[in-house]
Amino acid sequence: MRSGNTVGRIACAMALFVAPRWGYAEEELRIALVSNALSVEVAGIQLRLFDGDTGALIASWSGLHETTIRRGARGVVVEGTHEAPEARPETKPGMKPETRPETKPETRPETKPGTRPETKPGTKPGTKPGTKPSSAPEVISAKAAPATGAIVSPSLRSSPSSRSPSSKPLSSMRSNDDAKGSKSAEAQAEAPGPGAVVHGARRVIVEARDGIRVAGGLYLGRLEIVPDPDASARDRLLVINRLPLEAYLLGIIGSEMNPTWPLDALKAQAVAARTYAMQRRMMRRAANKTYDLESTVLSQVYKGADQIRPLVIQAVKETRGEVLSYGHDLVEALFHSTCGGHTASSEEVFGREIPYLVERPCTWCRASTRYRWHVTVPLEELSKKLSAARLASASVKNVERDSDEIAVLVEARGAKDRRLKPRDVRAALGYTRLFSNRFVAETSGRQVVFDGQGFGHGVGMCQWGARGMALAGYTYREILVQYYKGATVKRLY
Ligand SMILES: [Zn+2]
Repeated sequence: MRSGNTVGRIACAMALFVAPRWGYAEEELRIALVSNALSVEVAGIQLRLFDGDTGALIASWSGLHETTIRRGARGVVVEGTHEAPEARPETKPGMKPETRPETKPETRPETKPGTRPETKPGTKPGTKPGTKPSSAPEVISAKAAPATGAIVSPSLRSSPSSRSPSSKPLSSMRSNDDAKGSKSAEAQAEAPGPGAVVHGARRVIVEARDGIRVAGGLYLGRLEIVPDPDASARDRLLVINRLPLEAYLLGIIGSEMNPTWPLDALKAQAVAARTYAMQRRMMRRAANKTYDLESTVLSQVYKGADQIRPLVIQAVKETRGEVLSYGHDLVEALFHSTCGGHTASSEEVFGREIPYLVERPCTWCRASTRYRWHVTVPLEELSKKLSAARLASASVKNVERDSDEIAVLVEARGAKDRRLKPRDVRAALGYTRLFSNRFVAETSGRQVVFDGQGFGHGVGMCQWGARGMALAGYTYREILVQYYKGATVKRLY
């Protein structure tokens, strides 16, 4: 847990989830965080692991803990544990009020043990029917008991560790009468060495009170760790973050847009991102996929709860449940950084006509450094990259943009000159080398000069344009209908 500020923001963010709901229920999303991993390390306060199929508690730790999960012959294996180096929860700023309940959470089976059920997004009642292992702590299965006997034993469930805030996690787990917090040496002696197998399961569910740290990020909700279904990764793990849609949005808006931008730009982004996520979720579930969204630019950039900022919380909260619809359908709410003067139609870019993704004028993105850009690429580099992409068979001697295509003239006799699509040239050179498909190209000596406009595919909402419109006083609804023509904002819950 890096900072009190982060935790404070999360606590603040969690307050969102006590808001009343009506109509449609908020959906749970499954975000692929890590794939193709041999093992993963997870850490958190009051970290708890469950068998994903039976709901049985595998292991539970009262303090800040980390543990390793790897792929074994018969599924997912939770390995030996050790204390996290900074395991002194009471020293973390911003966490004192909730840090030490008077009784150990596992002794209260009627509520969600180890959590604050009324606020924690990952455990909100009704958000994950059928999978909530809330009764698990009382039904630790025989097979969950580790061979070492050191990780889980029935006595731990009523351990009064909470009476001794300074006791270390293993110590507090181990005994019912070590309430003085002086057992760290004993804990070390009793701790299993690394590699002690605790439990094997087809899938493992991980929960923690204030978010789970994995792969460099802090994530709200729960983690589901499963064998990677990708055929090329049979011995690998896939880590999926399961969390309510609104909690996901808190994590994503600050990654997709500068979190210090005007509120209405952030609100427009929140509605677009919510719509996009719901639409993807519907498609992926219909296709019976293991998860709904990637955590990279392939879907929407998601770096977990570390990106949560006050304005983002406000933007998500004030648009809660709002989506873009066209007729009875959810909009395909595509967005991009900078259009450079006008947006592009989906037909132009993706070859698919969509009534609300049409070309729209936009000069609000002028403040973007990519509104106009100028990039010089040596002919030699262009030749290499076009060859690697099988777009040219010989050295390029001249390039010029001609209507919708790029004429590529080559040097070798007998080799054919080519006419290429701008998007293919951009793909070959790299998406951050040429910032959009909108450019003119001209050869100058042994260099090719690209003069372009915009950053990204240009379809849907222009993010810098949304910022410009918000600064000019437009509301988020006005911003959205500017970029998604004929769409309307509807509130689903
Ligand atoms: Zn624009």
